[in-house]
Amino acid sequence: MARIEEYIPLVGQAVIDDLRLLSERLKGKVIQHINSTPVGGGVAEILSRMVPLLRELGVDTKWDVIKGGEQFFDVTKKFHNALHGRPEVIAQRDFEIFMETSRQNIESVNTYGDIVFIHDPQPIAIVKRKTANKWLWRCHIDVSNPDERVWGFLMNFITHYDSAVFSAPDFSRKLPIRQFLIPPSIDPLSDKNKELPQEMIDFVLRKYEIKKDKPIITQISRFDRLKDPVGVVEAYLQVKKYIDCQLVLAGGTADDDPEGFKVLEEVKEKAKNNPDIHILLLPQNDIEVNALQRASNVIVQKSLKEGFGLTVSEALWKAKPVVASNVGGIPLQIKHKYSGLLCHSIEGASFALKQLLSSPAYAKKLGENGREHIKNNFLITRHLRDYMLLFLSLYYQEDVVHLC
Ligand code: UDP
Repeated sequence: MARIEEYIPLVGQAVIDDLRLLSERLKGKVIQHINSTPVGGGVAEILSRMVPLLRELGVDTKWDVIKGGEQFFDVTKKFHNALHGRPEVIAQRDFEIFMETSRQNIESVNTYGDIVFIHDPQPIAIVKRKTANKWLWRCHIDVSNPDERVWGFLMNFITHYDSAVFSAPDFSRKLPIRQFLIPPSIDPLSDKNKELPQEMIDFVLRKYEIKKDKPIITQISRFDRLKDPVGVVEAYLQVKKYIDCQLVLAGGTADDDPEGFKVLEEVKEKAKNNPDIHILLLPQNDIEVNALQRASNVIVQKSLKEGFGLTVSEALWKAKPVVASNVGGIPLQIKHKYSGLLCHSIEGASFALKQLLSSPAYAKKLGENGREHIKNNFLITRHLRDYMLLFLSLYYQEDVVHLC
């Protein structure tokens, strides 16, 4: 794990000094994160970097994961989709299943933190244990157009929190509690994002039998319908009529996402054993994801809905040209025609992919601008600062945190 000083060459001494100043003010407080999976997906990705760095800064930080069976995660996946605005049939029984598991977690999860930081809807009901400590609810989902029934159900819990945190301005909701806007981040020094030697990149390409002499288009994502992997294959097939290139669709599964294998089958069916389409079910392997991103000519993220889309930041940080849907948190990261290309359809994606593959100088410029944008806005050092200010703000009634 990178030590905090190692970030100085990237972000400057003053940024690290600020982090130390803020962490001093949190001495004696225990911060307890709770989510629903230790690996897979953006939340676990961020916590696995955030928690050790906060500890290194001297902030006593813990991370606990709730338990739940298959039925519970089937229901929470439906909630997830419905909150993103996708039509889902949700029965009264689903709410009961959610509450049955929640009651067990309310009984069994020890909420010892001075600040209990709950991520997403799965553990939301644990707030029923609230005593004198402070409680935060972090929503990583795009709830700008949620299914009102599910949102209304969650409101029964949200109102018990001290504050809520959203990733983008459009996601904020009318709430009787304080709200904060804090976008996610990537860690430039993690295995996922650090520089890699060319031999390592070549090794991973050989391992997955991906050719070096044909352009590579890549989408890294869980096999989830909202990431539209089938749409990516369709866009690729349109590009392939004009440009001989390969597609890499790489994705693992997350413990709290039961749909993955079904979607993977749909993608394989669409790809019809095309030798230039590489569908990779990766075990959690950050170096391999990093290598695949670095080996690619263009990165695509054709999500139908997206909370933030860490994969976009990861690609831009590697100065890769990106084609991504204009949804959720993606436009925070991509300014169209400046730091990438935004698209709204399969045709739009294939048009943008063709444009980038046939104009390498333009593609390079977009990638370089993208890296600068990520450096200024979406690195973990900014996120650490925002979170520590958020923690401190819980102890101040007014909107000012006094540091002196
Ligand atoms: N990821 C990974 N392996 C995979 C698929 C995804 O390591 O096979 C990572 C990806 O690099 C990113 C995170 O999981 O860091 C996904 O976060 P994102 O915000 O893009 O989407 P989410 O899965 O949270 O909807």
